[in-house]
Amino acid sequence: MEIRENIEKLRKQIPEYVTLVAVSKTKSVESILEAYNAGQRVFGENKVQELVTKYESLPKDIKWHMIGHLQTNKVKYIAPFVDLIHSIDSIKLLKEVNRVSTYINRVLNCLIQIYIAKEDTKFGFTFDQAEQVLNSKEYKQLRNVRIVGVMGMATNTEDAKVLKSEFQLLSQFFQKISTNNSDLRIMSMGMSSDYRIAIEEGSTMIRVGSSIFGDRN
Ligand SMILES: *Cc1c(COP(=O)(O)O)cnc(C)c1O
Repeated sequence: MEIRENIEKLRKQIPEYVTLVAVSKTKSVESILEAYNAGQRVFGENKVQELVTKYESLPKDIKWHMIGHLQTNKVKYIAPFVDLIHSIDSIKLLKEVNRVSTYINRVLNCLIQIYIAKEDTKFGFTFDQAEQVLNSKEYKQLRNVRIVGVMGMATNTEDAKVLKSEFQLLSQFFQKISTNNSDLRIMSMGMSSDYRIAIEEGSTMIRVGSSIFGDRN
């Protein structure tokens, strides 16, 4: 019941235009079903095997988002059903998503992951690199992959000023690149600890795990 209450509380806090991705990594099928029964339909996972297993055992109207680092050799396992990949962090990966989705006749929506944190453990492009990718001939030739926005993870800190400035930078970048590209409509930023600040700075998609399902072990 707690999961339902957490979701209802979150929904009341976030504007209607913000998509709530319930991050269910490490959580059981039963917990996900509890969220599902509270009306939640978008779930995020960060490991391919776990994503596939959960997809197979849960209702088929769930939209599954891949939010973690994705290895090129595993794209094929999720391409047939995944709704959105948040974590495109190389041209090589983008090309592989295109190759696999061509083969299965899908056009896959993706976000380009941008490096905004002051930590060097996280994947992603710099702003310049991301812009280069979007404007590249290489990307424009890919028919079965569509970059529909950006994703960023802020520094793991409680310092609201740092969080705000990182989200602001991503937001400014997004505004700049989306003025002449109508495909770009999603800004995925904000997690349990920082989604309020992220929404203030223009996030349209938040990825929330522990505030819904409780702490992970
Ligand atoms: C785990 C994870 C989240 C959710 O984190 P919480 O702090 O539990 O809300 C969001 N985004 C990514 C990429 C994650 O891996």
